[in-house]
Amino acid sequence: MMDTSAPYINLHTHHTPQATEDCRVIVSHSLLEHSSFSEHPHIYYSLGLHPWDKETLTEASLTELEQILQTTPRIIALGEAGLDRVCTTDYSLQLRFFERQIELSETLRLPLIIHLVKAQDELLRLHKLYHPTCPWVIHGFRGKAPVATQLLEKGIYLSFGRHFHPESLTLALEQKRAFLETDDLPNLSIQEVYTHACQALSLEELTLRTELYQQAQQLFKVS
Ligand SMILES: [Zn+2]
Repeated sequence: MMDTSAPYINLHTHHTPQATEDCRVIVSHSLLEHSSFSEHPHIYYSLGLHPWDKETLTEASLTELEQILQTTPRIIALGEAGLDRVCTTDYSLQLRFFERQIELSETLRLPLIIHLVKAQDELLRLHKLYHPTCPWVIHGFRGKAPVATQLLEKGIYLSFGRHFHPESLTLALEQKRAFLETDDLPNLSIQEVYTHACQALSLEELTLRTELYQQAQQLFKVS
């Protein structure tokens, strides 16, 4: 059924939006920011240990993360967490704390928002190893269709920003496992990302909004 008021969903941003009338937003924070969490009903949060923030890849930070996740209802996902073979953080350290966060996501029943750079094989290996029951979402996905297919086959969700391969987005939408996001671009609105996706795929915007909103309601505690 078509919902004429289906809001936009911004799956991943680092900026708290000014206007949220017609959107739901998941703002991603890191422990370094020591940010407060708004009680605004349209703003939700994710919190995790990012592979770029090597000073947070410690047992003490993990304990702090767990404590905040357990006591902050506005946080509806763990992340971003992940693996980045291009950044300067020691890779084995990244891997250790990504695995710990996979375990935490399962224990706390929070979906995992994943930062992934040139570590797709490792991610697939970990997915096989852990058999997660909580959803995994790779954010900022720019891979081509064969890569998208490999991930979608495992039940992994993909979130797309301003730049993407249209074929990959089509595949993810067919599987009902696509989201859209603005990430760290301060001047990009989620409306523009939806418009661009609709143009690239010749979709009705209301259809896309309705579908992604329904998915968000199912996947996250977004209302
Ligand atoms: Zn990000």
